[in-house]
Amino acid sequence: MEMFKYPIYVTQPLTPNILEVTKEIEQVLESKWLTNFGNKHELLVEELKNYLEVGHLSLFNNGTSALTLGLKALELTGEVITTPFTFPATVQALDWNNLTPVFCDVEKNSLNINPDKIEEKITGKTSAILAVHVFGNPCNVEKIQQIADKYNLKVIYDGAHAFGAQYKGESLANFGDMTMFSFHATKLFNTIEGGALVYPDNRLAEKLRVLTNFGLSSPEKVEVSGFNGKMNEIQAVIGLGNLRVLEEERKNRERIRQTYVGEFTKIPGIRIITNRKKRESSYQYFVIEIDEDEFGISRDKLHYGLKSYNIFTRRYFYPLCSEFHWYRDLDSAKRKNLPIAWEKVNQVLTLPFYGGLEDEKIKIVCDAIKEIQFKNAL
Ligand SMILES: *Cc1c(COP(=O)(O)O)cnc(C)c1O
Repeated sequence: MEMFKYPIYVTQPLTPNILEVTKEIEQVLESKWLTNFGNKHELLVEELKNYLEVGHLSLFNNGTSALTLGLKALELTGEVITTPFTFPATVQALDWNNLTPVFCDVEKNSLNINPDKIEEKITGKTSAILAVHVFGNPCNVEKIQQIADKYNLKVIYDGAHAFGAQYKGESLANFGDMTMFSFHATKLFNTIEGGALVYPDNRLAEKLRVLTNFGLSSPEKVEVSGFNGKMNEIQAVIGLGNLRVLEEERKNRERIRQTYVGEFTKIPGIRIITNRKKRESSYQYFVIEIDEDEFGISRDKLHYGLKSYNIFTRRYFYPLCSEFHWYRDLDSAKRKNLPIAWEKVNQVLTLPFYGGLEDEKIKIVCDAIKEIQFKNAL
């Protein structure tokens, strides 16, 4: 098979209409109000509240600072039960709040935290559950809430992959005490760098505004130790522009999803992890799982094999967060306590997935997978 002349990457950022945003950037620059809760910032807050169907939303300069400040606003202490199968930022936000992660194993199908394993992790020091809607597939939000209610714990969702996803016809953003979204360039909806928190408790709005602005509650009063987490006006302009092209991107990604699904259901040993559609899906990633026995070769062999075709996939999330050297000695981080996470971390592969991925390229990706499988089986 012919190798790609040009590399194919796992994603390509969504970008707005250049003429439209150029005009808006001119307005911002002429106004001389470049950051600190300006006009575009406030407009984006309103539009995102509509889109996500939530009551309260705060913007940040990135998703990690959103989560870090969100945890601080909730005044958590001691231990937080979380998942090892996530991006480093999830647990690093705990570190910056002096909170100890207690790792809990994941579910086989969704790869999200397994609610049936949470209760045994709860101690007198537990203050919250920090769960992740991995690849946009919703956590078992009902069971998690039941446990949280029983033990009086807060529930925070890292929804970095779940922008726009629904659960039983309702916005997934409306579950838990708080949900974080990342608007990094690689996320479906982006502001280049950026993030948001949504939450049902309106008292958090003012608290978060103070925390993102150095703890300043008025020009000369420093109320708490915050930091600089503000989204600037140019980021907000990019966000407003990307919201206008978002539905088209989602439609394109649905078409690509269907093509992949059509191809992969014919190949034994491939399970599709991100198979939700329309408003159920965030269209953040297209992720497959390789069963080595059935497929014939391992996930790693496929990953490196595709690289030789100039096709770049990602082993999200590898390694597990429980393997970071500063956590490894925690009892909850031990491999024997996380059997499913350890199994899945070696099976999961994120494939190229973005609206601009042409049909011919999707076909080449699929043909390359089949060819690598066939060659290795010989
Ligand atoms: C992208 C991502 C983050 C971090 O968001 P940033 O906006 O890049 O800081 C956190 N958690 C998960 C699961 C992510 O994928």
